[in-house]
Amino acid sequence: MNSVPVVPVVTASGVRMSYGDTQVLNGVDFSVAPGEVSCVIGPSGSGKSTFLRCVNGLEPVLGGSLRVLGEEVGYDLRDGKYHPWSPKRFAAFRTKIGMVFQRFNLFAHQTALENVACAPVHVTGVSAAQARETAMEHLDQVGLADHMHKRPHQLSGGQQQRVAIARALAMNPTLMLFDEPTSALDPELVDEVLEVMKRLAREGMTMIVVTHEIGFAREVGDTLTFFDEGVVVEQGTPGELLTNTRQARTKAFLSSVL
Ligand code: ADP
Ligand code: MG
Repeated sequence: MNSVPVVPVVTASGVRMSYGDTQVLNGVDFSVAPGEVSCVIGPSGSGKSTFLRCVNGLEPVLGGSLRVLGEEVGYDLRDGKYHPWSPKRFAAFRTKIGMVFQRFNLFAHQTALENVACAPVHVTGVSAAQARETAMEHLDQVGLADHMHKRPHQLSGGQQQRVAIARALAMNPTLMLFDEPTSALDPELVDEVLEVMKRLAREGMTMIVVTHEIGFAREVGDTLTFFDEGVVVEQGTPGELLTNTRQARTKAFLSSVL
């Protein structure tokens, strides 16, 4: 019997990136399989956000290889040569990846519904009516059907973040990236956002989640990766990493967040 090889959604090998002279990613090795919930932790400044931005094609990879959704991010290989992507090509790539930030980044002058319906209309060209209908379904899925006509300032931080998740889902992404999605929220609003993310995880969405919510990683994470100084220091299942921590740097970090 033939077994079908699983093609990873993300494969980073020795990924390097710098801002000017500041080396930020120093050879990241990391991979994510389809349906995997990959949680990432690490100190501030260790390169977690930069890595997500590279995965999304928002920052250029300056060394190593980064394959996402079957493509070398930023380059097409033709006639034995690498050709850099055009801005249009980057935009097409990004439609397949949903990103949720620490700050919700909603359009302040638009309602929740308009925020969610906006990208499908402008990027994929579905009709406004169709986009609104789909947006309503997505808002319903994040528990905000009753709030769809409110603007961001009329919503709590947790509700705004759920709108941001619905907005990312509206493009039917293959991969979702979360960059500390609950760290700007008041503590009592964290769970409502984590619940939405847990449901997505259980539905089989492939996700990379940068979070210090260790309980979330334990409950739905397939892997937990510790970043420090621009490299992956340690990786395992959350159970392994949390109970059999091997590296001193990981231990020190965990003792600061647990
Ligand atoms: P983390 O998300 O783990 O906190 P970041 O990826 O945001 O880390 O940052 C890694 C390093 O890159 C930090 O030293 C930060 O100061 C630096 N950095 C991040 N963004 C920029 C930028 N736009 N320009 C210059 N340096 C940056
Ligand atoms: Mg960050």
